[in-house]
Amino acid sequence: MTLCRVHVAVVGAGPAGLAAAEAALRAGARVTLVDSAENPGGQYHRMLPDAYAAARPDQLQHGWRAFDRRRRRVLAHPRCTWCPETVVWALEHRFPEGELDSPGDPGPPRSSQAPRVHLLSGPPDGGARVRHVLDPDALVLAVGAHDRVLPFPGWELPGVFTAGAAQALAKGERVAVGDRVVVAGTGPFLLPVAVSLLEAGAGVLEVLEANTPATLARGWSRRAWELAALTGKAGELRAYVVDLARHRVPYRCGRAVVGARGEGRVEEVVSARLRADWSVVPGSERSTAVDALCVSHGFSPQLELPLAAGCALRDAASGRPADGERASAVDQFVVVDDDQRTTAPGVFAAGEITGIAGAPAARVEGTLAGWIAAGGDPAAPALRSVRRARDQGRAFARRLARAHPIGPAWPGWLSPGTVICRCEGTDYGALRRAVASPAGAAARVTKLATRAGLGPCQGRICGPTVAELTARLGNGPTVERPVAGLPPATPHHRPLAHPIRLGELAAPPQPPPQPDHPSHVPPTPTKETER
Ligand SMILES: Cc1cc2nc3c(=O)[nH]c(=O)nc-3n(C[C@H](O)[C@H](O)[C@H](O)COP(=O)(O)OP(=O)(O)OC[C@H]3O[C@@H](n4cnc5c(N)ncnc54)[C@H](O)[C@@H]3O)c2cc1C
Repeated sequence: MTLCRVHVAVVGAGPAGLAAAEAALRAGARVTLVDSAENPGGQYHRMLPDAYAAARPDQLQHGWRAFDRRRRRVLAHPRCTWCPETVVWALEHRFPEGELDSPGDPGPPRSSQAPRVHLLSGPPDGGARVRHVLDPDALVLAVGAHDRVLPFPGWELPGVFTAGAAQALAKGERVAVGDRVVVAGTGPFLLPVAVSLLEAGAGVLEVLEANTPATLARGWSRRAWELAALTGKAGELRAYVVDLARHRVPYRCGRAVVGARGEGRVEEVVSARLRADWSVVPGSERSTAVDALCVSHGFSPQLELPLAAGCALRDAASGRPADGERASAVDQFVVVDDDQRTTAPGVFAAGEITGIAGAPAARVEGTLAGWIAAGGDPAAPALRSVRRARDQGRAFARRLARAHPIGPAWPGWLSPGTVICRCEGTDYGALRRAVASPAGAAARVTKLATRAGLGPCQGRICGPTVAELTARLGNGPTVERPVAGLPPATPHHRPLAHPIRLGELAAPPQPPPQPDHPSHVPPTPTKETER
């Protein structure tokens, strides 16, 4: 048996993580690929559960054939250990800071610098999850993002979905959320969601993009020559537009859902025309009878694990290092260098945690991260086109952010009774009172006074909103008063990335998982399509 030089752990098997695993294997590493889902694919290639034995797993998928080939190559590889239904619930530094080599050193990663990875394997609702611990030489974080939704009166009603959740139900379960559905928010993501809903059998009344045509045109047309490199994305978008036209679904710009009403569940939505800053044009409100509403205002990167690993963050708007003491710092991403290396020794990052740019960009970042993490030659000729595609992806992320910004006047949609934190039922009025109190608007004070962010989601959903509103109500970013012995409060700092039962915590870890590849690779589907 050949002894492998480097062990690379990859967390997340979405487009970024799967590509990282493939590149690391190609560079000769031993790879442990971990994902909380049953199958690889992440959000973009969300697969149906194995138990469905789907005859057409490629339905509702773009680029399925290439994904399927990659998935099979990686999962069947003798040096790959695939850990499905496994969450990384914590990362732990193995050495005190002074004992580490300095971050950003060139060359292959030195062993033992990456943090210890704590895993929990098994279905989350089962009682038999098993703990494992990995001590990899290098760690690639590719954990993606989750939906961001701005609050508005009635958004807590049953029948109001995040667009991502509706998409997950359509793609991952073939469940249609309703017969009369409005899809609203901002970003190109609204289009695949509407199309997936239609293909799952839902009726879509309209798609509402909150940004005005002028904002969209300015954002997309700037440095128009860069678009030439994005033919794949353009083709995908064209296909969505054709599908919507075929189903006669109108796509309206400069209009948003600013309220939802209903007895016990959503029955109608109030939409309004918006100015460029997202203030409502008076008198433009209209109501529409619906049985479901899907909303998305972009994505928030999952930063718990990067923060636990000690990765520095950057501010999306300014590009500058994020100041952890500023409670308003909500649009933050992991800082990576030209090789996808983070500022934490032995830790690499790829995909949506470094910037929101879609699946193709996530894939090339993953390829680069996996190759370098495995000690592959950074000057390898094959990397030239990968780096070029990665840079195009970063340019696409900037374009996306410019064309689909969140208008600063959106808090004008809120009333004092509007729920801000759904877990704890905190409303906007309570938040205003807390910020106006003599104790000030520091994040810890607001949290304790209102309980916003203290519920089961631990601020994953409301965190960015609470941070932004608190900063605005307090007239600008609030600087935390340092508490002796505590790190500054940030919206993403959570020592436990996933809940763990006390019994599981107390149980001793089992030996690390070993390759068990053949049984994980399902038979090739009979019909494959690649659009
Ligand atoms: C809900 C949702 C639906 C989306 N659907 C689409 C779509 O249909 N079309 C489209 O163009 N874009 C979609 N996107 C955007 C999409 O996220 C990206 O384009 C692309 O999937 C990003 O790839 P990624 O590898 O960075 O992250 P992801 O694809 O999100 O993959 C991250 C993976 O990490 C795993 N993970 C996260 N945390 C842990 C942990 N602690 N332990 C173990 N595993 C973990 C997740 O299970 C996931 O599989 C969606 C985004 C979201 C949030």
